[in-house]
Amino acid sequence: MMPVVNCPTCHAKVEWTEANKYRPFCSERCKQIDLGAWAEEKYTIPAADPLEDPLQDPLADHEPKPH
Ligand SMILES: [Zn+2]
Repeated sequence: MMPVVNCPTCHAKVEWTEANKYRPFCSERCKQIDLGAWAEEKYTIPAADPLEDPLQDPLADHEPKPH
């Protein structure tokens, strides 16, 4: 019985074998995509400034803005 997992990137079934060096991914491409997405998310967090996002300020919707 070969263990089967789902590729985290494309959700294809992947046989968990010694021969599959990209496991749990189905391919090198899916592995790179997942690592890239993770790195991108990591670098996005410090750049986000909640003070500059009006959706993060509950008072923004109640204060009339002068024109
Ligand atoms: Zn995949």
